Amino acid sequence: MGESAFFGLRDIDVHAPPNVEVALALLAEHGAGAKVLAGGQSLLVLLRMGLISPKCLISLQHIPGLKLIAASAGEGTRLGAAITQHQLANDLQIRSRFPALAEAAAAVASPQVRRLGTIGGNLCHADPTADPPAALIALGAEVEIQSVEGRRRLPVEELFVDYMETALSPDELLTSIHLPAAAPRSGSAYLKHRLRGVDTALVGVGVGLSLEEDGVTCRSVRIGLAGAGVTPIRAREAESALIGKSVTEATFADAGVAAAAECSPLEDTEASEWYRREMIDLFVRRAGLVALSRTNA
Ligand SMILES: Cc1cc2nc3c(=O)[nH]c(=O)nc-3n(C[C@H](O)[C@H](O)[C@H](O)COP(=O)(O)OP(=O)(O)OC[C@H]3O[C@@H](n4cnc5c(N)ncnc54)[C@H](O)[C@@H]3O)c2cc1C
Repeated sequence: MGESAFFGLRDIDVHAPPNVEVALALLAEHGAGAKVLAGGQSLLVLLRMGLISPKCLISLQHIPGLKLIAASAGEGTRLGAAITQHQLANDLQIRSRFPALAEAAAAVASPQVRRLGTIGGNLCHADPTADPPAALIALGAEVEIQSVEGRRRLPVEELFVDYMETALSPDELLTSIHLPAAAPRSGSAYLKHRLRGVDTALVGVGVGLSLEEDGVTCRSVRIGLAGAGVTPIRAREAESALIGKSVTEATFADAGVAAAAECSPLEDTEASEWYRREMIDLFVRRAGLVALSRTNA
């Protein structure tokens, strides 16, 4: 399908493929001249500001397979890339199994943006202050990427290569996100710190942890940070401060200090680098305690 004057933007062809295969063929044909259109919440802003000028848009709106949540016993959960933040925030399985993700999706902007904005679009926009990436890092998620050449999977933290830049090449489509099945005695949480109700995060912290059978020793932990650098970040030093230790307020405090030291927050009109580091320290402690409180749920 080709249309002109899309949303008042002339000279842009809009394609609405019915399945992933046709979308991939269109991406291969148009290469860097094409842009994938998911919810349009960021893309249309960039278009209207004249910051990008694609020759065509490839809409994901008519590909039903990209809007499914599929859980299989023992194999985790697959999220289609075009699932909206609203769906994730309200899905009962996501809320009970992966609370960090439901909380991150619910923390995005406003109801209007959450109804349209998709999880794949959020990841591919690669805003370092975005909420879902930090939660997905904490949950050990992987992204599946496809082109006409085949498919590959990446841990979500490896998707982000620089400021608002991903590891995707122009002919690739992010098709799904894979969440591993939750381990026994595990819990997760995402906390966002912002000044006003619909703001993006000054900082955001996702924590996913599991305990040994003794119920006190940290078996595994993953910590994702938003607003802590030029990309969403996995806080590996903070994780090392917890693994194999008894999980207490004191060890979460050590993790908070480690996270604040290892990240490189940007400074802007909303907050200084110093303030963001202080808040990362505090919110790692807080999110860690919330995740811990869920390990017996
Ligand atoms: C006012 C406002 C406030 C916001 N506040 C927040 C916030 O607080 N927290 C937060 O996390 N986010 C926030 N966002 C971002 C929002 O959450 C959306 O997720 C984000 O705008 C992109 O999602 P989308 O589906 O609309 O993608 P689009 O805008 O359609 O696309 C974004 C980019 O990703 C590419 N893309 C999209 N899908 C794919 C795919 N499957 N494969 C390959 N490339 C793809 C597009 O080509 C484009 O480059 C805000 C947005 C707005 C407009």
